[in-house]
Amino acid sequence: MAIAERIDCMECGGTAYLAQPIGPEDDFEPGDSVVYLCGECAQRWDVVVDEDDLIDD
Ligand SMILES: [Zn+2]
Repeated sequence: MAIAERIDCMECGGTAYLAQPIGPEDDFEPGDSVVYLCGECAQRWDVVVDEDDLIDD
């Protein structure tokens, strides 16, 4: 399963990008935690992955 590389920033409405590099080999499961950083307001988002976040690839 893959995960979104960017999410909407809930603080400013900008785009937050995954703070860690991920490759095609990376596999995420519900319960894993990932960090996104907003490119506009620099807000950090710690996100616990749940099934809704996973992209079927
Ligand atoms: Zn933001």
